[in-house]
Amino acid sequence: MNIVKINKNKINSIERKHPWVFSGAITSDTKDFKDGDVVTVCDHKDHFLARGHYQHATISVRILTFEDEELNQDFFNKRILNAVELRKNLNLITKKTNICRLIHGEGDSLPGLIVDFYNGVAVIQCHSIGMYNSVELISEGLKNALGKMVTAIYSKSSDTLPQRAEGKDAYLFGSCVTPHLALEHGVKLQIDWITGQKTGFFIDQRENRFLLGKYSKGKKVLNTFCYSGGFSLLALQEGAELVHSLDSSKKAIVLTEANIEINNFGDKHKSIVADAMEYMKDLEEEYDIIVLDPPAFAKHREKRHKAIQGYKRLNAHAIRQIKPGGIIFTFSCSQVVDKFLFTNTIIAAAIEAGRNVRILEQLHQPADHPVNAFHPEGEYLKGLVLQVD
Ligand code: SAH
Repeated sequence: MNIVKINKNKINSIERKHPWVFSGAITSDTKDFKDGDVVTVCDHKDHFLARGHYQHATISVRILTFEDEELNQDFFNKRILNAVELRKNLNLITKKTNICRLIHGEGDSLPGLIVDFYNGVAVIQCHSIGMYNSVELISEGLKNALGKMVTAIYSKSSDTLPQRAEGKDAYLFGSCVTPHLALEHGVKLQIDWITGQKTGFFIDQRENRFLLGKYSKGKKVLNTFCYSGGFSLLALQEGAELVHSLDSSKKAIVLTEANIEINNFGDKHKSIVADAMEYMKDLEEEYDIIVLDPPAFAKHREKRHKAIQGYKRLNAHAIRQIKPGGIIFTFSCSQVVDKFLFTNTIIAAAIEAGRNVRILEQLHQPADHPVNAFHPEGEYLKGLVLQVD
């Protein structure tokens, strides 16, 4: 059994059930451990504290359990069933929506594991080598918890693991032709987990897209950082007069246009391939609504200052140019920028733009992306709906 001993001044965090052990907290020799090894975490007196997956990285152990139990099939069955039960209780799958996140890492006490569900297909994405090594157990756990609801399980970890892990992407159960048709709020979406970003779609904006729909009737909408066009589709379904979708990736725009076409929204839509930061400097139209949903500008704390400058500039451009009375849906998914800092950045942008701004709604990640109360770092998506006088 691989033992990781913790400095006695650092055990507090584990006793408070924080699921990460940083390399600086470890006093024992771990150099012979392999990435992905199951390790037992002990205090300086060799008392059991937790068990998890080891990796030679700043986050050295991702804790899966604080009980002295094996990380076997029963363990994964129990955890996955628990996660699936939550989604069932949330009634996320309806006649109009068959997309949701089934497992959200630390939020479901399975650090390093993401599982997304697209109309019968579960897509597994591992962010740790330990989880990748457990992918067969995870697949069995999903079959056990979902029964007939799941027709295929795809493992896609090649772009989320360190290169040395050489994750291979493959179906672990069944198979499915991609793109695969799925629904969100009645809108049709073509999902391709094989060629798409992440698991194929940004599920975390589901409720915020629905909210945008409510604001959109008769409006001119600019959806920047559109990826596959999720916000554009909701706006069009709810009666927007026109929608322009912008992304710097040509591939993303191809996805958007395919989705626009299968929903027959083509006559009210135009797409633009451009860098949003450049494009927003001088808009060609006056819009009623602008959506700003950039990728994480800061992945690390050291990048935070620069990221904030980026959010400020982007938002100042939108606030300055939107129609009087216009609405801005603005987001940040940088985990290191918390909601207070984000709000303050937006206030700074409003000052720079010289217009009065009111905050109408405060947005966040949905319930199928839960935040473990002992792991506040899990809160990453925040947004504001602004009205500009
Ligand atoms: N709003 C989307 C998700 C956005 S993901 C949804 O609802 O699904 C972020 C997107 O920003 C990606 O599609 C990426 O290609 C795009 N992107 C990244 N940098 C960009 C830039 N400088 N200008 C425009 N788009 C950019």
